[in-house]
Amino acid sequence: MSRNNRDGQPQKTPAVGRRGFVQAALGGAVAGACGATQAGAPGARAGAPAYRETLSTPVVERHQVVVAGGGPSGVIAAVAAARSGADTLLIERYAFLGGTGVASLMTCYNGFRNQHAPEALQTVKGIPAEYVAELVRLGGVADIDNYERQFTHDVTKGDIPYTVGFDPEAAKVAQLNILKREGVKLQLHSWIAAPMLDGTRVTGVIVESKSGRQAIAADIVIDCTGDGDVAAAAGAPFMSPDESGKTDRMPMTLMYRLGGLPAGVKGAFSGIRIKDRVTRWGPAAKGSALDVNNLTQAEIDTRLKLWDSIQEMRKQPGMESLYLLESATQIGVRETRRILGEYVVTTEDAIEGKRFPDVIAISSNPMPGYHGKRYFFAHAGFDIPYRSLVPKKIDGLVLSGRCISSEQGPFQSARSMAPAMAIGHASGCAAALAVKNGVQPRQLDVKALQALLVRQKAELRT
Ligand SMILES: Cc1cc2nc3c(=O)[nH]c(=O)nc-3n(C[C@H](O)[C@H](O)[C@H](O)COP(=O)(O)OP(=O)(O)OC[C@H]3O[C@@H](n4cnc5c(N)ncnc54)[C@H](O)[C@@H]3O)c2cc1C
Repeated sequence: MSRNNRDGQPQKTPAVGRRGFVQAALGGAVAGACGATQAGAPGARAGAPAYRETLSTPVVERHQVVVAGGGPSGVIAAVAAARSGADTLLIERYAFLGGTGVASLMTCYNGFRNQHAPEALQTVKGIPAEYVAELVRLGGVADIDNYERQFTHDVTKGDIPYTVGFDPEAAKVAQLNILKREGVKLQLHSWIAAPMLDGTRVTGVIVESKSGRQAIAADIVIDCTGDGDVAAAAGAPFMSPDESGKTDRMPMTLMYRLGGLPAGVKGAFSGIRIKDRVTRWGPAAKGSALDVNNLTQAEIDTRLKLWDSIQEMRKQPGMESLYLLESATQIGVRETRRILGEYVVTTEDAIEGKRFPDVIAISSNPMPGYHGKRYFFAHAGFDIPYRSLVPKKIDGLVLSGRCISSEQGPFQSARSMAPAMAIGHASGCAAALAVKNGVQPRQLDVKALQALLVRQKAELRT
């Protein structure tokens, strides 16, 4: 297969060489694929000169399932794949797991059920619920959060409310515990730079780390990078709001934790509170998080603003003890690519509460920015069909988390971490089943996948 590299020259797809090396002649990256709506290769700048590299990358490992990215969706996908019998490796760029929930301090898992009535059905169960039970066991659930509470549920008894506020340090440990129990192999500090490709089939990933550039082969890769990095670089077409021109991209926000909240202050203090510490939403930034210059500027601007705003807060009478306990490791990125799959979940599907024969998860979370308002569903949740996890054109790959195939409306709902975990549960089971049956994800027997998910206590309303 021939694709365009950064300077637009035809580029040969790398193949696994005879001595276990992946070989590629590059104009900057192995993967220089074009998105459906994005001109040019990721990272390309019009008219920029190209530096041509020739690389020989050792294939250091092979696994049945490789999970790319250790956010809420990736952690659950890895547990599910391993539990379903696959030898599984989870790769993460940071030194810890948890993705946006931990690295960007977004410390409340929303969407275990509808926030408003009808809310009787807990739509996210299975492995995500086991993970919440582990958080409870570690004492890692927050005391109070900023969300209205119209209903009574008791997370300590496994009856999970709409949202679960959490301690990010406990989350790091809870995630390690559930992965360890399931025998998932973990590789931290590793940036997934590109997919390994055999034509249009993903055959593994190329990682960069302190060990150098390494190829890790896989029967199936699950893209849990949030941004759909693997899928986009493999050449899967994708949608993003800026190129469509029809919708605004959801902004980035720098989350932070305050310490030293005075004893007399009651309630959530506009955040997620654990004793005298509270996680809050900080300054926001616009623009694409896929543009490193824009992302850098967003970090600079929001961090400087945050510091000043906290000094102002401390000037208020009685608030002198407040201090900036921690700002997020990275600014929170809400929206980048949505990969085009075999089915695109539509806003109508979400509003109607559509049910699909190939349901693999349910999203009940409101659409927080639907025409500028928080839109609550008048139903218990809409189905996520398996086809929205299968990228068009590309084999060897399952989509998961916030990059699945959907319009912006349902994306705003299902990107919340509880549905993202439920989708992770499904993607992990799907990858393991595909390996077991020696088929591509698009050929999977969906009834068998559903049966496996139900055995693992996922809620599918079947
Ligand atoms: C400011 C903000 C507020 C939000 N509010 C809420 C809320 O209140 N409640 C809620 O439930 N959700 C909320 N969300 C949404 C939610 O946090 C995300 O949509 C969700 O975390 C997506 O999960 P994910 O696993 O798909 O991706 P992510 O959480 O983004 O995880 C992706 C993981 O992949 C890793 N990764 C990415 N690229 C690479 C690479 N190339 N190589 C190696 N590793 C890589 C990342 O480090 C990360 O660990 C919010 C998001 C933001 C930004």
